[in-house]
Amino acid sequence: MLINDQSLRKFVAEIIRRMGSEDDEANLVADHLVLANLSGHDSHGVGLIPNYIRHFSAGLIKPNTAAKLVTDDGAIMVFDGGLGYGRRVGGEAMAAGIDRCRDTGVVLMGLRGPHHIGRVGAYGEIALAAGMVSIHFVNVVDHDPVVAPFGGTDGRFVTNPVCVAVPGTENTPPVLLDMATSKIAVGKARVAMMRGDQLADGMALAPGGKPTNDPNELFGNPRGALLPFGEHKGSGLALICELLAGVLTGGGTIQPGNPRKSGVINHMLTIIVDPARLVDLDWMRAEIDATIAYVKDSPVADPAKPVLTAGDPERAARAQRSRDGIQIEDATWEAMLDGGETLGLPRAEALALAGVSVT
Ligand code: NAD
Repeated sequence: MLINDQSLRKFVAEIIRRMGSEDDEANLVADHLVLANLSGHDSHGVGLIPNYIRHFSAGLIKPNTAAKLVTDDGAIMVFDGGLGYGRRVGGEAMAAGIDRCRDTGVVLMGLRGPHHIGRVGAYGEIALAAGMVSIHFVNVVDHDPVVAPFGGTDGRFVTNPVCVAVPGTENTPPVLLDMATSKIAVGKARVAMMRGDQLADGMALAPGGKPTNDPNELFGNPRGALLPFGEHKGSGLALICELLAGVLTGGGTIQPGNPRKSGVINHMLTIIVDPARLVDLDWMRAEIDATIAYVKDSPVADPAKPVLTAGDPERAARAQRSRDGIQIEDATWEAMLDGGETLGLPRAEALALAGVSVT
C-alpha cells in the first residue's frame, strides 16, 4: 500500500476525531504520526493507530487534555500530561518552556504522565524553530519492559529515547540526534514482524536469553527482549532516562511497584537553552559550519555512503516520501481499517479519505 501523505493524514485525523478529539488535536496528532512516517520512522507513524485505539478503549488516553503546569519555579517548570495525547501536551509544554527560556536563558522542564509522545525529535524541532538548543531524556512506563540491561537476559527497560537538538545555520541544517537506547526501536521490531521480516543479528534475545532473529519472540508470552545499543553505554543511558525522566519529573520509573496497565506513558525531562545567552551567535554559527563540514569531510569507508550527521537521514526520507508516497505494509493497513470500523468508520469511507480506490 503506497499512500500520499496528505490523504493518509485525513484518514488518521478522522480516526482520532472519532475517539473524541476536537479538530485541532486530531489534526495535530495525525500530522505528528504521518511526519514520523515521512521521516522514515514507520515505527512511530500511523501504524500505532491500532494501539492508540486499544489504549483509548481501555481509558489509557484522555482526548482533549491540555498540559497542566504543576510546578512553576523560575527556570523550573513541571507539567502534568494527564494521559492526554503526547504530541499535544508535549507541544504545549515545549511552547511554555521556550517562552520562559526567553527570560531565563535556560529552562529545566518536566513533563509527566502524557500518553505516548511519539517521535521525540518533534519536540526538538519545536526548540529548533525558536532558535533554542534542547536536550530530552524520556522513559516509557505503563508497559512491560522490552529491553534487557547489559549483561541481563530479560526486559528491564522500554526503549527510553534521548534527543538533542542544535540549531543549524544558513549553510548547515540543524543537528537532531533522536534515538532509542535499544539497538532498534520496539516499533521497528513490530514493523518487521508485520512484514514477515527477520531482525539482523545481535538485536534481540528470545525468552530465556538466547539470541534470536525472529521479531515474533518479542511480542509473545513469555516475551524476549531487545538489546541496548552500545553494550554497557546504551544500557547506562537507558537507566539514566529512568532516573532523570522517571524520577525527576515525579512520573515514576519502570520498576514493578509502579502500575502497568498495558498502555504507553512517556515521562520527559527537557533542558532548553537559549544559545544567545552563552555565546556570540555569529561565532556559534561559524563554529557549527566548520565542525559539521570537518566531520563530513572524513574520507568515506564506502563510496556509496557519505558521512551523515544526525537529522540527515530524516531530511532525505521526507523529501523522498513526500514525493513518492508512504509505504504501509498490508497487515498494518488492515489493522488500521479494522480499528476504524470499531469506531464506526466504514471501510469504504476510510478508503475514500485515504484516497485509495477499490475496484
Ligand atoms: P535511528 O536509529 O533510525 O536514528 C537515530 C539517530 O541517528 C537519528 O538522529 C538519525 O538522524 C541518526 N542517524 C541515522 N543514521 C545515521 C547515519 N548513517 N549517520 C549519522 N547519523 C545517523 O532511530 P531509532 O533509535 O530507531 O529511533 C526512532 C524513533 O523512535 C525516534 O524518533 C525516537 O524518538 C522514537 N522513539 C520514541 C519512543 C517513545 O517512547 N516515545 C521510544 C523509542 C524511540
